[in-house]
Amino acid sequence: MGEFMTNFPSWQHLKGTQPVPNVPMQHERVMSMEIQTVGVVGAGQMGNGIAHVFALSGFDVMLTDISETALQDAVSLISRNLDRQVGRSLITETDKSAALGRIRTTATLTDLGPSDLIIEAATERETVKTAIFEDLLPHIKPETILTTNTSSISITRLASRTDRPEKFMGFHFMNPVPVMQLVELIRGIATDEATAKACHAVVERLGKTASSSEDFPAFIVNRILMPMINEAVYALYEGVGSVASIDTSMKLGANHPMGPLELADFIGLDTCLAIMNVLHDGLADTKYRPCPLLTKYVEAGWLGRKTQRGFYDYRGETPVPTR
Ligand code: NAD
Repeated sequence: MGEFMTNFPSWQHLKGTQPVPNVPMQHERVMSMEIQTVGVVGAGQMGNGIAHVFALSGFDVMLTDISETALQDAVSLISRNLDRQVGRSLITETDKSAALGRIRTTATLTDLGPSDLIIEAATERETVKTAIFEDLLPHIKPETILTTNTSSISITRLASRTDRPEKFMGFHFMNPVPVMQLVELIRGIATDEATAKACHAVVERLGKTASSSEDFPAFIVNRILMPMINEAVYALYEGVGSVASIDTSMKLGANHPMGPLELADFIGLDTCLAIMNVLHDGLADTKYRPCPLLTKYVEAGWLGRKTQRGFYDYRGETPVPTR
């Protein structure tokens, strides 16, 4: 788990542009009483950010993980990231302590039983996610909405393994969650209108913007972003350019805030490869074949920032290209 806000160039770029979520006044709370308690499963990179933004927007959050260490690390990271927002006058000290006061942690999944909304943000493996929903089902209320932050797994398939496919949605936050404005909302084939509306209202209450995506492999953002990153890796593989020249070209030539290889390191090369495999398998089109060089980096354990080495080496003062 990294200190994403320190490392992520767009944090500097975006500072002050992200609307500070409003902690609702008492009368507003009464009107949106349906969803007040939110369960977050998984306290990794995404889960801690999700708990952060929900708590800051006035929701009561129960955060769970199988790892006690992940839970402790998540709470201290949330606290440091809230400090950063206080330091930039985006929120006040009072907002910070109120938000922290709204987050409870537990290593017992079934403590999420009373939640109105559950967001699953555990490891990107279908068997893990399916098991979580199966374990939760006997303990939740009939009206609880189940959602997943999956980057690529079929919402319809995950929903079909629950007792409420009509109350199941993809709730896809971008990384880093407190900074990025977008939430992709993905309806499975059975998701009903009321569930979609409730999720859109929650995104609004978070001060973020929702985009609606149908449930096809990798949804919208990753369907477009990942092939671009994969193509950048092909350009590197084929010797069209070096890491530095590819990133500089896309930053200055296409006005992207980060180069594609720098961005791949930030996302995690294992995640990029997993998403390319989902596109390749799910759409059965060779244009999505993962670049062999991407596979090689993953096999080496060079997964990007989280392992200190990817297309750049992060072990020194400044990142150094590895090719
Ligand atoms: P991560 O590896 O940082 O965190 C995953 C956490 O899940 C870990 O703390 C792990 O202990 C926990 N976990 C595993 N099994 C569990 C279980 N049975 N119950 C409770 N907790 C469990 O991963 P991440 O990057 O936070 O990704 C989480 C999800 O968010 C994935 O579905 C991923 O595809 C998605 N996502 C990731 C990004 C990104 O940029 N990293 C962006 C959008 C969505």
